[in-house]
Amino acid sequence: MRRNFLKLLGVSIFSLILLPYKFLHSASKKIINKNLTEEQKNILFNEGTERPFTSSLLHEKRDGFYHCANCDAKLFSSKSKYDSGTGWPSFTEALPGAFNTKIDYSLGMKRVEYHCAKCGAHHGHVFEDGPGENGMRFCNNGLCLIFKTTK
Ligand SMILES: [Zn+2]
Repeated sequence: MRRNFLKLLGVSIFSLILLPYKFLHSASKKIINKNLTEEQKNILFNEGTERPFTSSLLHEKRDGFYHCANCDAKLFSSKSKYDSGTGWPSFTEALPGAFNTKIDYSLGMKRVEYHCAKCGAHHGHVFEDGPGENGMRFCNNGLCLIFKTTK
């Protein structure tokens, strides 16, 4: 009984210690892929946005996974990709744990920004007007993604 209690306590203290670490960790974005272009860096690390209808991934329809251009983490399955007509690659859902989110008040409106859980790099914004069951639309900069086909 006492041991279980201590174990529980240990776990909670551990998570308390980890909490600020996790926060700092996710806040500190670092360049992992040394081959990123200036445009990619501007989006990934300064929360820039690529011009709509410019991404070569817009019409990508093959089966596979979309990875983070910076750290290579697997972020989306091609199964969740759809054509939203916005000009940016769009997805109804991300892979579990792929992203963290924060509220973004830039451009004078409240939006939910999301960034790679592994490296902290910015990817896009998530909106609540998606066509899927969960009603979500992940609006992702194509330059932040690398597509890898599974076929
Ligand atoms: Zn990443």
